[in-house]
Amino acid sequence: MIGKVYLIGAGPGDPELLTLKAARLLGRANVVLHDALVSNEVLALISRHSEIVDVGKRAGHKLLTQVEINALLVSYARKREIVVRLKGGDPSIFGRAGEEIESLREAGVEYEIVPGVTAALGAAAAAGISLTDRRVASQILITTFSRGTDGSVMDWGCVTSTTTLVLYMPGAEYTEVSQRLLEGGLPADLPCVIVSNVASSQQKVRWSTVGRLAGEEKLSAPALLIVGRVASREVEELRSTFWDGEGKTLPPQHLLVS
Ligand code: SAH
Repeated sequence: MIGKVYLIGAGPGDPELLTLKAARLLGRANVVLHDALVSNEVLALISRHSEIVDVGKRAGHKLLTQVEINALLVSYARKREIVVRLKGGDPSIFGRAGEEIESLREAGVEYEIVPGVTAALGAAAAAGISLTDRRVASQILITTFSRGTDGSVMDWGCVTSTTTLVLYMPGAEYTEVSQRLLEGGLPADLPCVIVSNVASSQQKVRWSTVGRLAGEEKLSAPALLIVGRVASREVEELRSTFWDGEGKTLPPQHLLVS
């Protein structure tokens, strides 16, 4: 083995949100294997001597399978010194980094993870809200609405009235998301915000509620949904519902029953 594989987070799109380490490695890479989510502006920072491989997967049109990508990383590490696996956001969040790491370990390839700004954080910044605003939230749940091939749904049993729920991959339309949140016991007037194309010129922020979500027009992908009392421009008005004003939070009430 001569090479090292760097699993690098490209952030949500704006190259200024890359870490200095990520930018430096892109400039020195011998080969870069990247996802569809990585922006052209970030790709432009890759060394012009580097080979660039698009392993991006768009719904239904898989260019390469995950197993093929794993094998490709190992084979590049046998012949190149700096191998970069570039993923949108952070590699460890819904990025299938786990499978790639396992293959690298099994093949005895050295690797390093370089974190990136995950879409949840980019979206909160775009909406100008704090995900853990202490007046109304005590925890964040990063989850997804996409279903596994077996049709299984995510377990949101731990959601309380002070949880900020961040839903990646909210699906083709919002009716089903809205329905599931309501069925789970979340109040129809609970605020939510849809943020699409974070950190790009097409960025859109749409304020809504769990109940109104079903009727919202679909924003273009990629998009994510932040649900919870923090997802409002008027957090101040909402705090009286479960904040006693003396610095004490009221006991979390379980909203979802699994
Ligand atoms: N590893 C990535 C997530 C990959 S899963 C990260 O850490 O951000 C893909 C999902 O991420 C998309 O369906 C969308 O929900 C979200 N996402 C990624 N980039 C985004 C962006 N620029 N704007 C809005 N959502 C984004």
